[in-house]
Parts: sequence; structure tokens; C-alpha cells
Amino acid sequence: MEVLILGGTTEASAIARALAGDARVRAMLSLAGRTRAPVLPAIPARRGGFGGVDGLAAYLRTHDVAALIDATHPFAAQISRNAVAAATIAGVPMVSVLRPQWTACPGDRWTTVADIPAAVQALGATPRRVFLTIGQQELAPFSLAPWHSYLIRSVEPPDPALLPATARYIAARGPFHEDEERRLLEREGIEALVTKNSGGAATAPKLAAARALGIEVVMVARPIAPPGETVPDAAGALAWLDHVVSTWKRGV
Ligand code: NAP
Repeated sequence: MEVLILGGTTEASAIARALAGDARVRAMLSLAGRTRAPVLPAIPARRGGFGGVDGLAAYLRTHDVAALIDATHPFAAQISRNAVAAATIAGVPMVSVLRPQWTACPGDRWTTVADIPAAVQALGATPRRVFLTIGQQELAPFSLAPWHSYLIRSVEPPDPALLPATARYIAARGPFHEDEERRLLEREGIEALVTKNSGGAATAPKLAAARALGIEVVMVARPIAPPGETVPDAAGALAWLDHVVSTWKRGV
């Protein structure tokens, strides 16, 4: 049975690893191609867009995909919308992995904003030392507030043309640890942390470190997820797939 996993997350990689040795299915991992050197699991992988809803629906049909798992990042809104629409068109069962959001704890100083431009606004007019952990694709709006000094952390280097003049960059891939995050925030004299509400344990320690140091967190809220069945993690997706496989075998 053909399974397509829309990836680019730790959950997608975990699902792919679990299915690598599963004789019941032939799984394909799909990546957008943004990361130049992705860590690939031992299943076939494809890179690049499908060409919108119609392209993805055509892919599902021509490859006889019998189950679609959207394990993209909670902020990858376009591909998730496309997946729901394409699965409906092609009549393919689908599930989305939506990891739980982070929620504020006592002691947190969160300012929740709707999007990245609002995060830039929330930093205000007084120069601050800002830690940006929002990936490398949406940095350009921070150039509109060049009076802050920025420390950017992402898996791969951002395009220098999109960076504020005052930005410095460090490359790092999670998981991170609270004591190291705390040392980094202290060493750099960080006054505000900007993050998307991605959820998950791997990058949460920066929030605990900010809480411990009384640092403001500008938290970008998630886009609205498309309707459909969701599971919180890779294990949930694999359980869903077990059910689809057993139904498929019986030809129901
Ligand atoms: P997006 O805005 O939702 O998608 C833009 C377009 O990229 C889609 O319409 C699709 O092109 C293509 N695409 C996205 N994910 C794809 C996938 N897994 N396989 C094939 N094509 C894909 O996506 P994004 O926010 O740029 O995210 C791109 C990738 O980075 C995703 O794999 C996502 O899981 C990962 N990621 C994103 C974030 C984030 O904050 N956005 C963070 C960590 C990881 P077509 O319309 O041509 O099919």
C-alpha cells in the first residue's frame, strides 16, 4: 500500500523511520526542498512542490497513494490546506499531525501576536537585544526595525540580503537544553525572544530559560489549521495508518 508523508518535521522523520521496515506499506517522504542538507530516513524521498492542489491530487492518483499523512510544520499552512483539498479530490484517507501548542506558565512574560509583522511591532521603538528563533524564511520584516540588535538562530544560514544590518547568525539544530539556552541568553544579554508557537519538546527549553531570566517572549500564534482528522504525534499517525491498512486489506 502506497503512503505519502508530507514532511519537514521531526514527526515526519519518526513516521518515516517507523515505516522503513514495515512490509505492509511503501512509504514516500515528501520535502519542500528548503533545507539544503536534510537528515533523510531510510525510505524514498522526493523534493519540491507538487504544483498546488491539482498537482498534489494528480500525484496521489498517479502514484496510487492509499493514505496521506500531513506531518508538516504547524506554520506550513499552504501545503496543509492543499493536502486537505487534494485528498478530498482524489478520495484518499488523510490525517494531519498537529503537535500541541505551547501554553504560558506562571512567570512567563509572553506577548502573543498574530504574525511576523506584528512581532516586529511588538518589539517597540526602544533598541533591544533580540533573539530570533523563527527559522530563516521570514526574517525580512525585521529589517524595518533596524534599531534592535538581532541574534538569529536557524538550522541553515539565512540569505544575507534579507537580514537586518545589525543581525548576527548562529547555526544550530535542536534538541536544545535549558541550561545551555539560559547561558546563551545571559551571555548575549538578550532582552526579548521572538518565536513561533511551534510546540514540541525539542525547542521548548528556550521558553523555560526565558521564564527563569524574566525575559519577554514575543510568541507568534499559529495559523488556523484546516479541518480534518488530527493526531498529536507520530505514534498517533502510525496508529491511524494501522487502521487504514487493515481496512484497505479487507477492501472496505
Ligand atoms: P507552505 O508555505 O505551507 O508551502 C508552500 C509550498 O511549498 C506549498 O504550496 C508546496 O508547493 C510546497 N511544500 C511545502 N511543504 C512541502 C512538502 N512537505 N512537500 C512538497 N512540497 C511542499 O510551507 P513552508 O512553511 O514554506 O514550509 C516548507 C517546509 O518546511 C515544510 O516541509 C514544512 O514542514 C517545513 N518547516 C516549515 C516551518 C515553518 O515555520 N513554516 C518550520 C519548520 C519546518 P506546491 O504548492 O507546489 O505543492
